[in-house]
Order: sequence, then C-alpha cells, then structure tokens
Amino acid sequence: MRAYETRVDLLEVRLDWLRDWTVEDLEFLRDRPVLWTFRPVRQGGEFAGADSERFEVLRQIGRRRLGQWVDVEWDVWPPLIMELRGYFKVLLSYHQYDGHLPPWPDLGELFRAKPHDAVKIALTLHRWADIVRFLDIVEACQAEGWDGVWVVMGPRGTWLRILTPWFGGLWTYASPEGTGRATADGQVSVEELRQVYRYPEMAPDHRIYGLLGDPVAHSVSPYIHNRLFQEVGLAAHYVPFAVDDLEAFLRVMHVLPLGGLSVTVPHKIAILRYLDDVEPAARDIGAVNTVVRREDRWVGANTDWVGFWRPLVRRFGVRSWRALIVGAGGAAHAVAYALRRAGCSFAVTNRTHAKAEALARRFGGTAVPWDAVKPGAFDLLIHTTPLGMAPHIDTLPPIPDAWLVDKVVYDLIYNPPETRLLRRARAVGARAVLSGLPMLAEQAAEQFRLWTLQTVRADDIVALAQAHLERQSETFNIFD
Ligand code: NAP
Repeated sequence: MRAYETRVDLLEVRLDWLRDWTVEDLEFLRDRPVLWTFRPVRQGGEFAGADSERFEVLRQIGRRRLGQWVDVEWDVWPPLIMELRGYFKVLLSYHQYDGHLPPWPDLGELFRAKPHDAVKIALTLHRWADIVRFLDIVEACQAEGWDGVWVVMGPRGTWLRILTPWFGGLWTYASPEGTGRATADGQVSVEELRQVYRYPEMAPDHRIYGLLGDPVAHSVSPYIHNRLFQEVGLAAHYVPFAVDDLEAFLRVMHVLPLGGLSVTVPHKIAILRYLDDVEPAARDIGAVNTVVRREDRWVGANTDWVGFWRPLVRRFGVRSWRALIVGAGGAAHAVAYALRRAGCSFAVTNRTHAKAEALARRFGGTAVPWDAVKPGAFDLLIHTTPLGMAPHIDTLPPIPDAWLVDKVVYDLIYNPPETRLLRRARAVGARAVLSGLPMLAEQAAEQFRLWTLQTVRADDIVALAQAHLERQSETFNIFD
C-alpha cells in the first residue's frame, strides 16, 4: 500500500481477501485515499460471515474516519447504506460474472431505489454485441446524472479499462505488480497503465490507436506503438481490441477519436468491406493489416510485405531470389506479393495443397506438394506457418534438413526471436538465418509512418520489442 500510494489516486482494500486482521491494523491507512470493499460470497467475494458482522466492521472503520469510499452491493438494505453514507461516499455496485447482460430498465430501477454517490457496473462479457449494449447502459446512467465506474471483465474488456476516461468513468482498477497475476480477468497492472498506456496523461482530445484482432493479449504492438508515440511527443494511446464481431466494434470506432488500427488474425480480410478506400498493395495481397483515418475516410493498407522485404534487402542487398514459401496463409500472401514485385521466382508448399495452388496462381509462382520439393530449386526458404510460435516454442515444423543446408532461412515468427527452426537451420549448415523480429519492426515503422507521417528507426523498434519479449517470457508460464 505504501509502495503504491504515490502511483495511484485511490487504494482499494479488499477486506474480504485479508486474513487475521483487526480494525486497528487499518490505522496506518489514515489520511490515505482508500476505497473499502468487503465483498460477500453471494456477490463473488470471499466473506462468508453474516451481513451484520460485515456492516459492524465497516461502521467501526467509519467511526475511525478511515478512507473515503465504500463499495456496497446493490442488494444491501437501504437504511444500512444510508448509515454508511454518514462516514463514506457510497459506490453502489452491480457485478455479474456469468457473461449475461442485465436489461437497462432493471438496472436503472435498482440503482434508483438505493442511495449512492456513484454506481459501479462490472460484467463479464464475451461478445462485442453485448459490450456495445453495455455502453448504451453507461450512457443511460450518465443521462440519469450518476457518476460511475464501468468495467467489462475478461480479455474483451481490457481496452475499456484503459480508455475509461473517454466513457466518463470515475476510475479504473489496476493490479499491483509482482503478484504474478491480475487481480481480475483482463486487468492491466498499475505500472502498465501508467508507463505503457500513459493513463495519467489522457485527455479527451488525444488520439486513439489500437490492435484489432482475436486474441491480442500477448501482442507486443502496444509496447512498441505507445513508446513511439511518447518518443515523438504525440498525444496518442494504443490499446488492444480483442474483437469477435467487426460490425459491433465499428459502432465504437465512431465514438472514439480513432486515428488508425493495426489489424491481425482473424480480421485482415473481413475488414476490407468496411473501408472507404484500400491502397493498391493491400488490394493485390487481399488483406489489410493497417487502417488509417484520413479526414473522415477509413483507408486500408498493408505493411507486411514491406516489413518482410526490407530486412532481406538490408542484409543481402537487392537480389534475385529463388524462394520456397512454406505455408499459404495471410503472411504468405504478403511474402508472395513482395517477391513478385521484386521480380523473384517462388514455389509454395502447404499442408492444404489447394491453398498453395490458389496462392501460386494469384502471384505467378508454382505450387509444389510437400514431398515433391527439390532442395536444389531454391536458395531462400521462408517459413510462414505458426509452428514454433510462443507458447509452443519447442515445436519444430516438419521441414527436412535438406531444405535448410546452405540456404537463407527466414522464419516470420518473431516470438521467440530465435525459433527452434532457426536453431536447427544454423546447426545443419544454413547459409544465414533471419528472424521475424526485424519484419515486425519494419512493418510497425511503416504503420507508424502512415498514421503520423513520422519516420522511426526499425532497429530501435527491434530493441524495444526484444526487451518486452524477454520480460514476457519470464511470466509466460504464469499467464498461460
Ligand atoms: P494464417 O493465415 O492462419 O496461415 C497459417 C498457415 O500455416 C496456413 O498456410 C496453414 O496451413 C499453416 N499451418 C497452420 N498450422 C499448421 C500445422 N499444424 N501444420 C502445417 N501447416 C500449418 O496465419 P498468418 O497470418 O499467415 O501467420 C502465420 C505466421 O506468420 C504466424 O506465426 C505469425 O506470427 C507470422 N507473422 C509474422 C509477422 C511479422 O511481422 N514478423 C507478420 C505476419 C505474420 P493450412 O492452409 O493447411 O491451414
């Protein structure tokens, strides 16, 4: 508590989580900004005793004049709430953990019936369609003149926890660092909220950017782009949008001051039909990984192909490669586009041969079944499947050693920066190996340039991403 008091505006004490304590033990919190929460089991907390006992403790705390706020559940008897209001401001709270969205008329009635200084609605929601309806409820609360705290629990609600100032939220909850876990699902830590997302500096005229995908929780992009915004002095914040339903998401997109988006699996193709314009490269590739707001138009672009190509040129100069692409998904499309643009020849092999054929037809290459690949026919192998990506870092794609010997082996995976495939390639005598990290950095730099017209060095991004991935790998086992 002492360590955090200068870093937060309010300290929530979960009395139901504490063991072996007396009210006297709380004296050290005198004159500190505290919100008391003493949640009973029936409301998702851990206090299994009687309500009379719970309220007697809160009364004693109140008489000692400790703390400013108390969280009181919606089902508490109004005279008790009135009494607590003599000591504290009352946050009247409603929690729902089962993924169910309560109807507004019921919630409205319930909050109108009980005295409060602010309301809290915290719901576990899994679908964006429900999140949009939840935001309508937030608006309805504000129309009633109620201050409030709005929480969507679960990974789909992380963005709202971070961007709560744009929805008039009184505060957001963040977990202390070093506990090894968030105190609630989808919560970010105090340090992340302050240092990565720059929560204390947020203001309504700041621009919002984000990563649209599903899942996005382990992405390195928020660490990259927020730092870049900070370094070039732009008032902008970049957040993860874990979205299952594009249509629903777009309703929010128009409420927020969005400047642009990174787009990842599974929305790279589906986003196309919602855009006003699509740049030629993105149209050719058939996928958008970057959305830019230009005036009031939404423009789709693709920076993956540049991201893929630049590290090759930087390392080996402009060369006429004979390439073998392993995999035929979204990334392989950007790779094939870049190779064709540079006049290189390529073959493609994939688990689902029909997809390799479609890709080869589209970009003028050759589709080869896995067992018909001839190592003598290529000098650059590009691995584009997710095999070996964190957390499955021990997976080795079933690529024969003969495809690696004396070749340049380029693995698009950036997490981990050195995959098992690259280690294997080195061990069996590959001519050179290239990780997906510089590609990530180059595509991010290009994305940043499209959004801000500012140039940043890809090497700096590699360093940023690497530092973050190292920190993340230390905690991977805990979170997965
Ligand atoms: P995607 O569209 O889902 O394509 C995945 C490809 O991998 C498909 O061809 C799929 O084959 C194949 N595949 C998946 N599981 C397989 C398995 N168990 N065995 C054999 N083949 C398998 O994914 P994507 O967007 O192209 O991304 C692929 C990888 O590229 C990811 O690891 C991603 O992180 C990386 N990437 C990196 C960057 C960067 O900046 N470094 C950028 C983009 C992507 P089927 O066709 O048979 O399903």
